[in-house]
Amino acid sequence: MFKLSIKLFDSISIKLKIIIHFILLAIFSMCLTYLITYDSLKKEIQETYFKKLTAIREIKKTQIQEYIKSIKNDIFILARAPFVINASQELSRNFMKKDFTSLIKKYDKEFIKYINKKEFYDIFLIDIKNNNIIYTAAKESDFTTNLTKGKYKNTNLATIYKKIKRLKDKDDIKIIDFEHYAPSNGQPASFIATKIKNEKNETIAIIVIQIPINKVNNIMTGNQNWENEGFGKTGEAYLIAQDCMMRNDSRFFIEDKLNYFKQIKNRGVQKEKIKQIKQNKTTVLFQEVKGPICNNILNVQKGIGIIKDYRGIEVLSSFTPLNIKGLNWIILSEIDKKEAFAYVNQIKNKVLFILFLIFIFIFITSIIFSKTITKPISVLILAVQNLGTGDLTKRINIKCNDELGKLATCFNDSLDKLEKMTYSVEHFTKLSMTDDLTQIHNRLKFNHALDIEIIRAKRTNTNFALVMFDIDHFKHINDNYGHDIGDVALIELVNVVNKTIRKTDIFARWGGEEFMLLLLDTKLTNAVIMIEKIRIKIEKHNFKKINNLTCSFGITVLNNKKDTKENIIKRVDEILYKAKNQGRNRVGI
Ligand code: GH3
Ligand code: MG
Ligand code: MG
Repeated sequence: MFKLSIKLFDSISIKLKIIIHFILLAIFSMCLTYLITYDSLKKEIQETYFKKLTAIREIKKTQIQEYIKSIKNDIFILARAPFVINASQELSRNFMKKDFTSLIKKYDKEFIKYINKKEFYDIFLIDIKNNNIIYTAAKESDFTTNLTKGKYKNTNLATIYKKIKRLKDKDDIKIIDFEHYAPSNGQPASFIATKIKNEKNETIAIIVIQIPINKVNNIMTGNQNWENEGFGKTGEAYLIAQDCMMRNDSRFFIEDKLNYFKQIKNRGVQKEKIKQIKQNKTTVLFQEVKGPICNNILNVQKGIGIIKDYRGIEVLSSFTPLNIKGLNWIILSEIDKKEAFAYVNQIKNKVLFILFLIFIFIFITSIIFSKTITKPISVLILAVQNLGTGDLTKRINIKCNDELGKLATCFNDSLDKLEKMTYSVEHFTKLSMTDDLTQIHNRLKFNHALDIEIIRAKRTNTNFALVMFDIDHFKHINDNYGHDIGDVALIELVNVVNKTIRKTDIFARWGGEEFMLLLLDTKLTNAVIMIEKIRIKIEKHNFKKINNLTCSFGITVLNNKKDTKENIIKRVDEILYKAKNQGRNRVGI
């Protein structure tokens, strides 16, 4: 597979190779940049959020602890207040007797004043001998009932009362977790209790304060100012106890009921539970908090994590046990993961967009870059192809100064030299085959041409005529007019013949004042006609100084079965000799 891809890669053009290299490099570096940026940013944001959530969690924890401590302090002082001791003694003595109502009225003043000041829900006095509730400030249905036999004997009020009664340490203060308290219309109620003693330090009654859920709720929701407390749009702090039920109102229940009910319905909360939350207008003791914290509620240590909350939404959570005796609560401080990472995602999108732009830029650059390399190469290829056809005239026009520019300059220089050399070779070749005086073929060239034409004629079974001619009495001309005038006459004669013959005919100076003519594809009769014409033209031509000049001709045709070069030349020479002997200025055959 790898070998195949290497082979495939080798077979593609340099242009494509450069582009692929660039793209691969771009993708690799972009992925690396993206991963490093996104990952480190995400970690940093996550860490910041966890720190923030933990800080808020610790503040809330302290606030709740301080509040409980203050109530403990209040009840400690209240149990020792003279009006409380007096009320306990008088009301237990006169329980349900004639003066009971007026006594209640008498003590109501102070109790109600105290309750209003401290914002408690209710205060109870319970007679330790008969277990009767001898005083309540709210006068709900629990007033005057018996906590061991009466109809509220199973409430958490009865439980804390019994616990305190059993205590040997008389100064101890107990607290009991929230439960639905029937006399308060099933509202969540938590109680704190301690003993009331007389001057002899004997326990005479037990005082109980009903802790309002509102106070805890206000601490946990920061009076519903979540954003001011740093919870953003989706953060909140909440308490859960060992029953995995919430101990304060959910932010989402308060802020966006519709969505909240939709979410918990999707999470699988039963219709009945949803109905109860709606009816009671609170999530306290109704909203179950499923998830990893609840799965191990007894052993929860302080920590952080990304978990699914009671709505089934992923949140960044910071949690810790509250460590208040009697209240095994866990406090959680959370924010939706989506909100926490919104900035990261925003940055992610920006980074992706920038990376996309960079990719486009690199892609275009790679195309331009590959073109700067492959364009000159293509020009070079064309030039070499052109050279292959034998054209030495074309030069490469590459203006760049890089390696390819230098290569082009080398190529052009080499071409210049080659052109000069070729010219010289052609020139000397031509010279070696040309007669210097008349500028027609010389004997060497004619011999060569004759060789070729004999072979061709034999192969194609065609024929040609060979003509040899010689100037008559040329010696006299030289003698009479001088050698130079003889030379001029030779040139003039060649011009006269050249004007008459065809382009395909081969005309050469055989030596001295002897010439050869090879008339291709010509029969003897036609050759005779043509040569006779030439003879007359020469005869009639007015040569400079010497005026008249004649030539004798010998014509023969190739016998393509028998003839060799030597015997055809010999034959034509003999025919010419014969024509000379017969009186010159004639055509012999
Ligand atoms: P014939 O009719 O029998 O051919 O008589 P001819 O005088 O032409 O023959 P011959 O062979 O006796 O003389 C040839 C002369 O041609 C001799 C030589 O001086 C002259 N000749 C040969 N080559 C050249 C040349 O290049 N220039 C000049 N001016 N004369 C040449
Ligand atoms: Mg002659
Ligand atoms: Mg001669």
